[in-house]
Amino acid sequence: MLTDLRKKTLNELAGLIAEDYSSGYITDLGKLAAAEEAEVYIDQYDNSFDGLLVYDEDEKFHIHLNTYRGNNPDRPRGRFSFAHELAHLIIDEHRIPLMKGDVAPHGSLHDFKHNDIVEEEADYFASCLLMPEKLFRKIPRPKKFSFDTIIGIAKEFQTSILATILRFVEIGSHDICVVVSENNIVRWRARSNGFPKWTYRFKPGNPLPSNTVAGEYFTKRNAKYTGVEDVDPDSWFIPGWTASTQMHEQCYYSDSYGFVISLIWFD
Ligand SMILES: [Zn+2]
Repeated sequence: MLTDLRKKTLNELAGLIAEDYSSGYITDLGKLAAAEEAEVYIDQYDNSFDGLLVYDEDEKFHIHLNTYRGNNPDRPRGRFSFAHELAHLIIDEHRIPLMKGDVAPHGSLHDFKHNDIVEEEADYFASCLLMPEKLFRKIPRPKKFSFDTIIGIAKEFQTSILATILRFVEIGSHDICVVVSENNIVRWRARSNGFPKWTYRFKPGNPLPSNTVAGEYFTKRNAKYTGVEDVDPDSWFIPGWTASTQMHEQCYYSDSYGFVISLIWFD
């Protein structure tokens, strides 16, 4: 797991680089790759990777982006893979072993949660490069928080909904809890530091609590609610105290990937 200190280092490094390569809210990854003298190839490869960084005998770096898995460099998914490979190139501890031949070039795959620290670092750096903290805090957002806040930020940075939520959990303007599920099974969860640290009523790998908006979507007919719903904290958590404001849940249904994201917050 990434330590807070390591995160701080990576966040600062990515922020400094982004300052030089941002136009508006967008970090120009192509320009950054060119400055790093890395050759970029956008092509249809097999299903085994999203992005790949290779260092060859001519001492040059090559970044491959796999459009077969949707990694077009002008799309959120492709931008994330591109930034992830740039992370391996920019972070000393990743680049140097690759140049020395101590590690073989490896393809990177998008996943909810990487167990490999090097992959975790590259993902984290990618999110900081695409959504630099300074710009993230500056971005205009609606007064009242909802899923639209996240969607608006994702549009500005051209990042995926999930990557944007993860960044928001860390440095967003509202404390949130996020639960990603698939076929009624919880895949993954996270919450902001300021969100109540109540015990969860669910865990990854197990079914969703049934009386939640996401849980009802999977278990009841015609229960695909997209609006902001009021929910009882008791449905998701074992509340340690009585909340003074209303808890909400709003779901985002990713039809292409088949997962549901529950966003949970208080007024
Ligand atoms: Zn990687």
